[in-house]
Amino acid sequence: MSLIVQKFGGSSVADAESIKRVAKRIVETRKAGNDVVVAVSAMGDTTDELLDLATEVTPIPAPRELDMLLSAGERISMALLAMAIKSMGHEARSFTGSQAGMITDATHGAARIVDVTPVRLREALDEGAIVIVAGFQGFSRESRDITTLGRGGSDTTAVALAAALDADVCEIYTDVDGVFTSDPRIVKKARKLDRITSEEMLELAASGAKVLHIRAVEFARRHGVTLHVRSSFNNSEGTIVYDPSRLPEGAAVEESVIAGVAVDLTEAKITVVGVPDVPGVAAKIFKIVANTNANVDMIVQNVSAASTGRTDISFTLPKSDGERALTALSNSQEAIGFNSLQYDDQIGKLSLVGNAMRSAAGVSARLFEALYEAGINIEMISTSEIRISVVTRADSVHAAARAVHTAFELDGEDDAVVHAGTGR
Ligand code: ASP
Ligand code: MG
Repeated sequence: MSLIVQKFGGSSVADAESIKRVAKRIVETRKAGNDVVVAVSAMGDTTDELLDLATEVTPIPAPRELDMLLSAGERISMALLAMAIKSMGHEARSFTGSQAGMITDATHGAARIVDVTPVRLREALDEGAIVIVAGFQGFSRESRDITTLGRGGSDTTAVALAAALDADVCEIYTDVDGVFTSDPRIVKKARKLDRITSEEMLELAASGAKVLHIRAVEFARRHGVTLHVRSSFNNSEGTIVYDPSRLPEGAAVEESVIAGVAVDLTEAKITVVGVPDVPGVAAKIFKIVANTNANVDMIVQNVSAASTGRTDISFTLPKSDGERALTALSNSQEAIGFNSLQYDDQIGKLSLVGNAMRSAAGVSARLFEALYEAGINIEMISTSEIRISVVTRADSVHAAARAVHTAFELDGEDDAVVHAGTGR
């Protein structure tokens, strides 16, 4: 008997009809002779709606209470799903994150899983029940409070359950047919990948791809969990996210140069204008920024003008960290000795990711050529071994993604299908 962990996202359980459809799917897996553990997200855009509601009550909700509120979303869907399954004549039992033994640290809104003690889940499985677990939430032993794992955290719940229960596979069901070469909501000709390495998936997720939560991919990689991303709306094969180093010997897999193109509209750019070009200034700037806990991404420093001995340093960071970093820098203007600060939140980032980039020549030239032909200006560039990212104007990054997707011959024959969801 196999143990299968299945995760269903918010758009797969958006209303009563969808919940019944998902219940049927779960029952089919059970009937095929498997033990089934399900992690479920809140219905549709429930989490966003609860967040909106909270900020209507107060601009800065207390983190503990916000977690209490948001964790309710998954409680609703888990109970409804268990009811639906029971009504189909199969035993099912729902559990909150805390009941399921999802032990986290005490960080509200971004808790990290420190332990999983699925005692009650094992008992329920032994008694022949299908187990439904509320995604996205846990319990801190330290604070004795309910926590949430951060937006999109149900993927991580599923992977953590799969690791703790030593599941045979962790299936992530979503509103598209798998992992695509680009977001099918942006690039219509995006193609579904049959498989992708976890390293590439990690880079894509870090570069803005929303199909899988980055922490879930990290967790899966660390614990050797194989992910299978597929649609809850049909039976097509989906995408396997695998670790090549764990492949059986001789199982060679041919790699394409480019796995995908990701777009990120969540970052802003800060430029520190007129920085003295002397040792230690960059250290000062980024120490101040780091102390605000801002997550700096790309950094560019220009050559200094010989006449002034001053230069500009630009860097990108999440928009949500922008305000804090700006204030801190502005408070240190005298100590650093720069002329002024510029803040630009109208940027977009495009990233091209592929394992075989390590050894392939001319990838960046081809990327820049494609952007040039599409009339798109590049503002910043950064690279890693398997990724090239460029910053453009926000309103041209989607066109950029389409142009680059075509230039690297990633376009599929037909338009990709998005079954549901707002991509919110
Ligand atoms: N409901 C949570 C969110 O919308 C968790 C999840 O969907 O994975 O972020
Ligand atoms: Mg959601």
